[in-house]
Order: sequence, then structure tokens, then C-alpha cells
Amino acid sequence: MDLQCKTATCSGCYCGAVRLTLTAIPTSVINCHCSQCRRLGGAAYTTWVSFPRASLQVQGEEHTGRFQVTANVERHFCRYCGTHVHSYDSRMPELVGVSAGVIQESIAISPSAHFFIDDEAPWHEASEDLPMNGGESAYDRVQDQMTGPQATNGAPGARD
Ligand SMILES: [Zn+2]
Ligand SMILES: [Zn+2]
Repeated sequence: MDLQCKTATCSGCYCGAVRLTLTAIPTSVINCHCSQCRRLGGAAYTTWVSFPRASLQVQGEEHTGRFQVTANVERHFCRYCGTHVHSYDSRMPELVGVSAGVIQESIAISPSAHFFIDDEAPWHEASEDLPMNGGESAYDRVQDQMTGPQATNGAPGARD
């Protein structure tokens, strides 16, 4: 293990051209079921881990491409292997979103809620032990679980 990764969260793209180091602890972890996360991630949903933006250090930034998904959301990806490495949302300028799947070291994370549950893939069923948010705003609580953590806000990368 990289020495630095013992005290920080290390992440990066599949080919290694782009590496991220996040020196702060995550502020939230959520599952986003929006159609953008599904199509851009190629999976039923994306688990977003948010960190303070100021804690992000990028190595190999020159190898990243940027894709403006919406007026609010910008995704950064590796130009060689295509891995989506992080996202910004102009409505949450103090945060950076990293999809949990690219985090290399095991960190103690567990999602606190589902978002955009109304957009869930028809062939997928989200676990009902987490709060579900959807509705018109996609952030309205649509189903409460009996116990568990309170839902946090959305995350950079979630659709506008
Ligand atoms: Zn790469
Ligand atoms: Zn999303």
C-alpha cells in the first residue's frame, strides 16, 4: 500500500494515468439512481462518496477529459481508459464527488440513502433498508425505513 494511502483516501482510474488523493474524511455516501449515473456508469446506480473539494489532489490531471453533463454537473474522466474519476456540481461548490467503485483502498463507507429512486432501472430493485428519496425534486423522502441514519443531501454527480 502506498504510504500516503494509510492516512488519506486514494483513488484513480483503471490504467493509473490519473490518481486522486483525498486527505479529508467523506462528508456523505449515497446511492444515485438517476439515468445519468446509470448511463455514464454503465451500472444500475452509482454510489457517490463526497469529500471536501479542498482535500482533493489530482496527479495526472493533464490526462483527464471533462464532460459537462448539465449546466450544474461536470464529470472528469481518464482520456485513456475512460474511468470516471470525479465530479463537480456547481450547486455544491465546496464538495467533490468520487464514485465509490474507483476508491482503491478499503475505507469504512456505507451509503446512507437512495436518491432519484423514481428513476431506478426497471431491472433493479434497491435495498429497502435505506431511506428512499425521489419524487418531483428527486430529493423528497418517498419511503422511510424503520431504523437507520438520516438521509444526507445529494452529492456532486447526481443529476440536476
Ligand atoms: Zn486511465
Ligand atoms: Zn445520478
